[in-house]
Amino acid sequence: MSEWSRRTFLASVAASLVHAAEPVIDIHQHTNYAGRSDDELIAHQTKMGVTRTVLLPSGSQYGLDVGAGGNDSVVALAGRHPEKFSYFANEVPDLAGARQVLEKYLKLGAIGIGEQKFPVECDSPAIHMVAEVAEEFGVPILLHFQHAKYNMGIERFHTVLEKHPRVNFIGHAQTWWGNIDRNHQPEVMYPKTKVAPGGITDRLLSDYPNMFGDLSAGSGLNALLRDEDHAQGFLARHQDKLLFGSDCDDRVGEGAACSGSRCLATIRRLAPTAGIATKIVYGNAARLLRLKLPERRKLRRGAAQLHFADDLTFVHRTLHFTLEVIVHQLERELEWAGRLAGYDLKGDLLAVHFAVADGTLVAATGAAHLTGNGTRFLHQFNLHLGRRPGVFDVNGTGPFP
Ligand SMILES: [Zn+2]
Ligand SMILES: [Zn+2]
Repeated sequence: MSEWSRRTFLASVAASLVHAAEPVIDIHQHTNYAGRSDDELIAHQTKMGVTRTVLLPSGSQYGLDVGAGGNDSVVALAGRHPEKFSYFANEVPDLAGARQVLEKYLKLGAIGIGEQKFPVECDSPAIHMVAEVAEEFGVPILLHFQHAKYNMGIERFHTVLEKHPRVNFIGHAQTWWGNIDRNHQPEVMYPKTKVAPGGITDRLLSDYPNMFGDLSAGSGLNALLRDEDHAQGFLARHQDKLLFGSDCDDRVGEGAACSGSRCLATIRRLAPTAGIATKIVYGNAARLLRLKLPERRKLRRGAAQLHFADDLTFVHRTLHFTLEVIVHQLERELEWAGRLAGYDLKGDLLAVHFAVADGTLVAATGAAHLTGNGTRFLHQFNLHLGRRPGVFDVNGTGPFP
């Protein structure tokens, strides 16, 4: 490789790393959440690595029970930062004039309806009215299901899905997630027991193409963590139906206090393949909400332009021989990328690879030594960004020992 092309290549790699690894769409946040300011919300989302946030306003009453801001607050914030935020429209559905309020904000640019978190039956005339508006505007509805409190009667929700086959519904909250378990006790909000598959939620996701699941909040995280063996199968089974959301009100955006960042890390850790994690982290949301993703990165090497493709084998073959150089020259960027992925790579830089996931350059870590057995490295590939190592096995020779 000529000096010129090598430098160009390295610069491209560095730029990709600095822009973080992959898009993240957070479909569930609120303005004025527990008194959090807009600036604090922006800092929180940035820290989590979110590239686009969907703001869910409260209706004109109840404040979603947490003092969340209403329609005008989300329009204002998205207006100031259109590259960061999209928003839904909302109103208490059984209030007179609710339909007009929803229509007003959908015409202004809302891309969905919700968070519907109000004391109504989930199959009430009010919810059917909301579904009619959603169909008229071609947008989904996000519902908070909570036993004896909000959108009651989840066992009858299939009738709503059947009556409105062209409307997409997104389920959220304690009663939605508790019901992944066939043996769910309705009063238990955060069950810790092992999951018996085939609960109401599991069936709705399987049986109805217009039903989706929002993994946000303590309820979504709990559904994954209460039984990780079950969660892996669940993520695989519903890989086209699940959406990452945070719904946390903290101001830190990382660590134990931030359920959103924990949920993101848990999805990446438990998803059986990197491709499944990618769908849940942003692919499904982009499709469902018709959101544009950042342009795919391109990488120049000499005269040949490499389009980042989904074909990992091709990219791997192309990149492998430059990795040693990169490791030497981009030590700091690699450390940064490693920290992003939850790894302390200090002193262990030999175990860093590069990979491409759905068109995006990511740093990869694994148990391989780049300078060790070159042949093995050529035949192995660990795609890893907070995901489990050894998921990818390009040439069929098995994971690293
Ligand atoms: Zn919420
Ligand atoms: Zn948080």
